[in-house]
Amino acid sequence: MPDSLTVPRYFPANGPFFTDDDTYLSIMTAYLLDRLLGGTLPDPDGPGLLTVPTRSVVMAPRLDGAAADLVTRLGFGPRLMVVSDLTTQAILGQRIVADLSARFAVEHLILTEPHADLDSVQQIEERQRSGAAAALIAVGSGTINDLCKYAAHRQGIPYAVFATAPSMNGYTSVSAAITVEGHKKSLPATAAAGVFADLSVLAKAPLRMIRSGFGDSICRTTAQVDWLLAHLLLDQPYREAPFSLLREDEAALLAHPERLVAGDLAAIELLTRNLILSGFGMTICGGSYPASQGEHLISHYLEMLPPAGWPAAFHGEQVAVATVTMARLQHEMLRAPAPRLTATHLTEADLTAHFGAELGHSCWQGFSAKSLQSDAAAQLTERLNRDWQQIRARLNAHRLDPEKVFSALRSAGVPTMPVDIGLSDDQYWTAVLHARQIRDRFTFLDLADESGLLADFAAAQTRVPSRQAAASVR
Ligand SMILES: [Zn+2]
Repeated sequence: MPDSLTVPRYFPANGPFFTDDDTYLSIMTAYLLDRLLGGTLPDPDGPGLLTVPTRSVVMAPRLDGAAADLVTRLGFGPRLMVVSDLTTQAILGQRIVADLSARFAVEHLILTEPHADLDSVQQIEERQRSGAAAALIAVGSGTINDLCKYAAHRQGIPYAVFATAPSMNGYTSVSAAITVEGHKKSLPATAAAGVFADLSVLAKAPLRMIRSGFGDSICRTTAQVDWLLAHLLLDQPYREAPFSLLREDEAALLAHPERLVAGDLAAIELLTRNLILSGFGMTICGGSYPASQGEHLISHYLEMLPPAGWPAAFHGEQVAVATVTMARLQHEMLRAPAPRLTATHLTEADLTAHFGAELGHSCWQGFSAKSLQSDAAAQLTERLNRDWQQIRARLNAHRLDPEKVFSALRSAGVPTMPVDIGLSDDQYWTAVLHARQIRDRFTFLDLADESGLLADFAAAQTRVPSRQAAASVR
């Protein structure tokens, strides 16, 4: 194992970025990330230092010829297996294999039709065992990365990733989204020892993937407000640490979202770093809380019960549309008087009627944990009445104006409306009205529905008559 001082931690690209102010912001975040990787960043939530299991994050305008050095410094070898798909092997995989072959015994598995499911995981595992590879090198983004980190976990070997698109925040998280027997599950996975981003490769990723990454990044605003609500109202645990890492890059990203789709390497670096830090935030919190709340419930609902014939959009595209919805819902509720909660009207029979017997039953197990009896609803209403000013002030401090979210996404060409992801208003708002039923996470969707406001909100957003939306929620 090399001396930790020789492991490159975080190397930013060659700024300066944008304007003087933005340069300052980016350098500050580079410094934060370097200290986080080095284990010397103070924890804003208490005594002690923040740590992450990843040892090296390297981003550079080009990483040609650098792969063998980067991987050697992680202590990997002598046998490695590079995993790519047909697309990622053409844009980067071949080059990585050539670089690594100068120093390691390298197998290259090219998955022809990878899906994030157990079949593909087993394909990786079989080749890994037959070649006795001591580590996996993923070359790709969402699917390839999830497959490798999950296979590495099951085989008890390390892995690193050469990113090909800034499309999601999973490079640095320690869970993998894998479909098992038709159900998409979030499974424990190995943390990447190294995350390497050749920015000139990422900048050439399909625009939909870049836009998707922006969607999965901007949901910070609604996720934080939802999570903090659950903390202030229900005393659930909450942490500032993940958000303290993101603040400055987010401001710089929002200042010039159009640069993301103009091939600007500095903008791509900001987005990539933001997604990497978002993944670290989940790792630090031991769960997806800081990056997945009401907006992700809407997206997950759409994947659980896809409208017939709907070609699912990219994760971040769905999240982007749902983030606009959640930002507007939070905005509306936070400028109104304290909501009055009543007992939960939904029963297990309602859920099985909507989701089917098996799915309805499993949804109920999560949902019933947060459903309110009338005395609990009364107590929470009292608490809301008493503390509404403080709750509102705390939440407003972390909120972005919904129209700012909307226009930033639009200026980068990111979907913001149901039609942009191929859904009718009716299909989309059905998802919004039912999304809270799929998990125990308490968000503004719950606050709104338990106070009788969600159907009205949906109706106002779509101009569907209110009683029709109210009927569809049951
Ligand atoms: Zn996400």
